[in-house]
Amino acid sequence: MRKNTISGLKSQLNTKSKVSIIGHKNPDGDALGSTLGLSLFLKQLGISSQVIMPNGYPDFLKWLPAVDGILCYDTDKTECEKVLQDSDFIFTLDFNHLDRTGSGLGNFLKNLDSRFIMIDHHQEPADYASFMLVDTQVASTCELVHEFVTTQYSEVELTADIASCLYTGIMTDTGSFRFPSTTSKTHRIIADLIDAGANNSQIHQDTYDNNAESRLHLLGKALQNLKVIREFSTAYTFLSQEDLNANGFKKGDTEGFVNYALSLKGIKFAVIFIENKAEDIVKISFRSIGDFDVNTFARKHYSGGGHKNAAGGKSDLDLNSTLEKFENTLNNYREALT
Ligand code: 5GP
Ligand code: MN
Repeated sequence: MRKNTISGLKSQLNTKSKVSIIGHKNPDGDALGSTLGLSLFLKQLGISSQVIMPNGYPDFLKWLPAVDGILCYDTDKTECEKVLQDSDFIFTLDFNHLDRTGSGLGNFLKNLDSRFIMIDHHQEPADYASFMLVDTQVASTCELVHEFVTTQYSEVELTADIASCLYTGIMTDTGSFRFPSTTSKTHRIIADLIDAGANNSQIHQDTYDNNAESRLHLLGKALQNLKVIREFSTAYTFLSQEDLNANGFKKGDTEGFVNYALSLKGIKFAVIFIENKAEDIVKISFRSIGDFDVNTFARKHYSGGGHKNAAGGKSDLDLNSTLEKFENTLNNYREALT
């Protein structure tokens, strides 16, 4: 699905415009890279903007250019609301339902009369935006931001910082250029970004080779908790709040753990369940290989969504009941998973 109604924006956006740029809750490399990359690009045009995140970002992305200028709604609610209230334009990047910013910020946004712009690649977009650049086939929002800036403002060069931000989101959302959504076009964009000054090797190192020992111990725990259900070509793991506390858990530490379950030979469906006592939920990540559609699965059973092969959701049951219910639910997918 592709929808492009963004071309009318250029004539309305100018140096007097007040602009905010928001990513989704628990921002990942694509949410951070796309929002920061766009904000730095608008700066090149003489348009100032404020990047707002619903909550904090993981340590492994703290090296990103301009990351210090981000306002977080959970710690700076009053300031964020003031900025948003004053905004003529609000870009929403890497999500497509206002609820994905959390219920507090989501409800606040629903009552604003600013013009919204959606740039995103997730399934089933809501219709709150006046301008959209949406393509569910594209691997990352950063690729769409690249398309927006290079087609609408072809005369403006990308700086090394802009290129680094966009490179990072493409790298993280494609699993370092290995998921099936990675195309020759993705690689052409990456080549452009390297030419513009993105230091590809350094970006991989800064993002992936900065582990604390405690994170590797947490990974060890997740691997110990692994359960393989061959009958359904499924593997899942979980981390209880106790496991997280015992291993110095910090936001972002569990990123990518689910892929170890997916790397098992013969496994088509992999899941990680992470207990979050503060929010009284179990946060869930789903991954699949091939035709099994985890977006539909997450939507149907776990108030979630995402993409065909990578989605997320949550459970309001306790951890053990969540795992039990999940195993029972698999019985309804015997045909799809065997
Ligand atoms: P992750 O498992 O890495 O958190 O997310 C995988 C994909 O699913 C990402 O594209 C993410 O934006 C999306 N996603 C994660 N959690 C949720 C959720 O609770 N609701 C929806 N709609 N999408 C989610
Ligand atoms: Mn994304």
